[in-house]
Amino acid sequence: MKKISEIFGSMVFNDAVMREKLPKDTYKALQAHINDSAPLTVEVANVIASAMKDWAIEKGATHFTHWFQPMTGITAEKHDSFISPTEGGEVVMNFSGKELIKGEPDASSFPSGGIRATFEARGYTNWDPSSYAFIKENTLCIPTAFCSYGGEALDKKTPLLHSMEAINKQAVRVLNLLGNPAKKVITTVGPEQEYFLISKELYEKRKDLIYCGRTLLGAKPPKRQELEDHYFGAIKPKVNEFMAELDEELWKLGVLANTEHNEVAPAQHELAPIFTTANIASDHNQLMMELMKKIANKYDLACLLHEKPFAGINGSGKHINWSLATDSGENLLKPGKNPIENMQFLLFLCAVIKAVDQYQDLLRISVSGPSNDHRLGGNEAPPAIISIFLGEDLKEVLDALADGKTEVPYRDRRMDIGLSILPDFKKDTTDRNRTSPFAFTGSRFEFRMAGSTTSVSCPSYMLNTITADTLMGFADVLEQADDIEAAVKNLIKETYINHQRIVFNGNNYSEEWVQEAERRGLLNLKAAVDAFPLFTSEKNLDLFKRQGIFSEVEVTARKEILFDEYCKLVNIEALTMLDMVNKDILPAVSCYVNDLAELVINKKSVSETIACEMEKNLISNLSAICDGLYSKASALDSLLLEVNNIEKTQLAARFFCDKILPAMNEIRALTDELETMTASKYWPMPTYGELLFY
Ligand code: ADP
Ligand code: MG
Repeated sequence: MKKISEIFGSMVFNDAVMREKLPKDTYKALQAHINDSAPLTVEVANVIASAMKDWAIEKGATHFTHWFQPMTGITAEKHDSFISPTEGGEVVMNFSGKELIKGEPDASSFPSGGIRATFEARGYTNWDPSSYAFIKENTLCIPTAFCSYGGEALDKKTPLLHSMEAINKQAVRVLNLLGNPAKKVITTVGPEQEYFLISKELYEKRKDLIYCGRTLLGAKPPKRQELEDHYFGAIKPKVNEFMAELDEELWKLGVLANTEHNEVAPAQHELAPIFTTANIASDHNQLMMELMKKIANKYDLACLLHEKPFAGINGSGKHINWSLATDSGENLLKPGKNPIENMQFLLFLCAVIKAVDQYQDLLRISVSGPSNDHRLGGNEAPPAIISIFLGEDLKEVLDALADGKTEVPYRDRRMDIGLSILPDFKKDTTDRNRTSPFAFTGSRFEFRMAGSTTSVSCPSYMLNTITADTLMGFADVLEQADDIEAAVKNLIKETYINHQRIVFNGNNYSEEWVQEAERRGLLNLKAAVDAFPLFTSEKNLDLFKRQGIFSEVEVTARKEILFDEYCKLVNIEALTMLDMVNKDILPAVSCYVNDLAELVINKKSVSETIACEMEKNLISNLSAICDGLYSKASALDSLLLEVNNIEKTQLAARFFCDKILPAMNEIRALTDELETMTASKYWPMPTYGELLFY
């Protein structure tokens, strides 16, 4: 393998390449465009496009594409080649500024939530120069935002870019009022991606994995994760090779792939890149998921990104580590040595506390879907109740300030300087509470509710937007204040008193917390379909408008897309389950029963008195369960006909959640029972044991 420094970013049109390839004034104009939103002229765009094309061709690229993230949750690309014909029957390689800046894909097959009537199927992709172009498989990929003919956002990047602008504006306002000369504030994000790797051969034998990404049936294997012997255990050689190739490919694309280890569940792993700007982190996470699947295939492995591929086994999350940093690299959520005197830190901390309390619903929505419903609240991931873990030390600081005290209670590891001080605020002093959905981990927040398929963009733009909004309120107050210091202290105290109900340091998995949260008046939106309707509440529409993220039309469309996607996914699962039951499981068990019956006849022909209790019992029990299963499958079939007649997607989604998913659970209970009683050679698909322990 080549040195990492040689391959890192080798397929990226990054800053170093631009400095080298672009004329000085073009480079300057582009920087002014990225940093200060200065307009970009066609002439400048032409020069950039031409340099990009030459660089890409040198690296073996033949095509270019506008790479974007429609509401499907994955990325889309439509490839065009660089060639254009000349008169003499030859070709030249062309790429203009216009082609760089704007694309016009047919948008009709992407979800639009009703925004785009089919007669205006046109959509636009617009170049996002803040995320570098890169080469993937002979194609120059240009990160773009995607919108409808009327300009409404139809993708996951646009709101993220808007939210970054919003929080930049408000955070800079607050900082400048505090005397901090910061010119720019960016949101930093480091997503930890969990995934499963299983044998491709076995994967291909399971329709549920192929169509739904998760198993819909499967009896418990004798061993699951109780020994926790997989966590941080030695990595298998094949998986090691997979990880090495994945790292190398990601490095070429400038992704800072960093730590890799085994997770708690058997066959589960995690990859965490080093954090970067939210927008780039989001793009990189998409690339990472795509490459994981592709490279796994090369090693005869299948990569499962679903939130809950196996019942009874931990699912996969995507922890979103989130913080704010200034242009000089100052992390605004770093408490420093002396948090109680660090008013700037405490003010930003309180902005997050208030934002999370006021917009629990939006955070819940940002991680909601049918697949994450299987994970949240299952004692492996946080419950569906949003709360914040601060750790005892920080909570004491805020409690003390709220009480008007100048000191926190004495603990022997603290010294007394000034108001009162923690000697060195380390993240080790928090106990890294793993059960919290939103935990302060020393210099950032870790949003742990997001599932493995969640786009990084959604939780990030929600966090940015809600925090921008509280900061805006703070800036408004501070602008009117005569005594800034007193005003800041007062804001911290007031905000914490009004919103401390959202702070919870205890065990989020406990039943007591569910009751306590209810007493505190916190939301407990158990299912995705409970959360979706709140997207368009008055307060949320106002927020999105105030911060320039979405118009009402756009939010309404997004809500519609969520409901629609929910229905489609559960419908596919139900149909797959019926297919497996009717075409595979019932016939397989019938064969077994028939062979047992023949066995009884054969045995009786040897001697009338020979014992056949085992066969008779099995035949009788299996037959009874098969009858039950057959009737439950017919009932599910009828429910699917019924839901087809519900016109409103919102009502249909409710029906899928309340009627169809429980019917599927009943079916599963029976198939899993059959599986434990049926001889292995008859069972028509690989078992949990075979899938997980290889
Ligand atoms: P753990 O498993 O203990 O939660 P990891 O080291 O696996 O921690 O992942 C931590 C993630 O948090 C990494 O992606 C890291 O880059 C990211 N991170 C660290 N500091 C920040 C920050 N200031 N802003 C955003 N993300 C951060
Ligand atoms: Mg983590």
